[in-house]
Amino acid sequence: MKLYNTLNRRKEEFVPLTEGEIKMYVCGPTVYNLFHIGNARTFIVFDTLRRYLEYSGYKVNYVQNFTDIDDKMIKKANEEKTTVKSLGDKYINEYYKDADALNIERASFNPRATEHIDQIVSFISDLVDKGYAYEADGDVYFSTKKFNGYGKLSGQNIDDLQAGARIEIGDKKQDPMDFALWKNKKEGEPAWESPWGMGRPGWHIECSCMAHNILGETIDIHAGGSDLVFPHHENEIAQSESRSGKSFANYWVHSAFININNQKMSKSLNNFFTTRDILESYDSDVVRFFMLSGHYRTQLNFTMELLDSAKASVERLYNAIGNLESLLEEVNEDNINEKEKVYIDHIKGYKEKFMMKMDDDFNTADGISVIFDLIRDLNSNLDIKSSKYMINYALNLIRDLGSPLGILQKSTKMNLKEEVEKLIEQREKARRDKDWSLSDKIRDELKDMGIVLEDTPQGVRWKKYN
Ligand code: AMP
Ligand code: ZN
Repeated sequence: MKLYNTLNRRKEEFVPLTEGEIKMYVCGPTVYNLFHIGNARTFIVFDTLRRYLEYSGYKVNYVQNFTDIDDKMIKKANEEKTTVKSLGDKYINEYYKDADALNIERASFNPRATEHIDQIVSFISDLVDKGYAYEADGDVYFSTKKFNGYGKLSGQNIDDLQAGARIEIGDKKQDPMDFALWKNKKEGEPAWESPWGMGRPGWHIECSCMAHNILGETIDIHAGGSDLVFPHHENEIAQSESRSGKSFANYWVHSAFININNQKMSKSLNNFFTTRDILESYDSDVVRFFMLSGHYRTQLNFTMELLDSAKASVERLYNAIGNLESLLEEVNEDNINEKEKVYIDHIKGYKEKFMMKMDDDFNTADGISVIFDLIRDLNSNLDIKSSKYMINYALNLIRDLGSPLGILQKSTKMNLKEEVEKLIEQREKARRDKDWSLSDKIRDELKDMGIVLEDTPQGVRWKKYN
């Protein structure tokens, strides 16, 4: 497989440190809020990369952290009149609800920064002992000039960076590019003991430390949203490589933003939709399809129209599955014939093509096109004369190609909610068309199903009575 490595700014053949095994670390959420659909892109993209690597036969040790101590956590805890700890507990719980609903597989580990304070303190002590970090009045800073490779990930020169940076009044650091590893306790903030007094860790050191503790000094893939390249990942490299003297991560993979009106969707701009809101109206397959229908390094614009078009595409795929399932019940022949054997060899080619696209820098957009090509081919070649074996083979192949994308695994049997909502929509249309007999007929049909309708200013509501 080829992956675009931000570190070397080119696609590279992926070779893991240990054959067949992958150590992967993804920067996870700061747990002070429900996550939005922009964050969801990053989580879905890397969940899919992990699934695809597993699909390709690798064993993946997948770590995604929770940042549960930083300025935003402290501010929000004060606003909610709660502790940083219970704020973290609450939003980690909420994270799992939404991530599960998005069919994101649970990570092998979800470490919390506050559960690694001892290791963080000892990591920082090592950096101080080696001369890469210095204490200043209860804070500890990393001295960027001491690390030769500073700037290599983001492709920046330290002198240029320095020219743009300023020492703020009251700063305790020696150089404007230095960054905090440890922050002295301020009034009202949670704090832990350390050789430099009570305080708390900086954001960057948390990830370096947790990646090291769980996965080791050198890992295969380090991933995150593209906003993290600088300074977060640059600083992680500086910390980790100064301490170990070894390469920290062999492949740096970054996913592009979700934008709204050409601006990054973000909490601070207040232009976001929470994943939870979106999942009220759209199925997880639709959200994942939307995210994966673009290449992960291309920015995606978020609009309801695009989500609706993803919904129509997902429906087409499920219709194809549903039609084959119905056909399976109708056909008489169990056993495969010679012509079908040849056809099976032909459709196996779609799996090869799918993997070829996915192996080319994880091109999910082209991978999805291959699934549509397969379905078109099946539609024109399978019919009532096909064997059960043949139809089952085709169904398994569609579901198999959907699995690394985390889609197309659901039952095609419509559930009550979907069925009722579809009928309500048809009744609304009939009423708009002033087709009163049709609208009455649909109302009766719903009544037979035990559904009562109520017209409200917000639209039609429904209830089931027994
Ligand atoms: P945060 O909770 O803000 O620390 O972000 C968690 C993850 O979501 C990080 O990997 C960010 O890079 C990513 N992220 C934040 N906003 C967006 C966005 N609009 N589009 C894609 N990824 C994002
Ligand atoms: Zn991180």
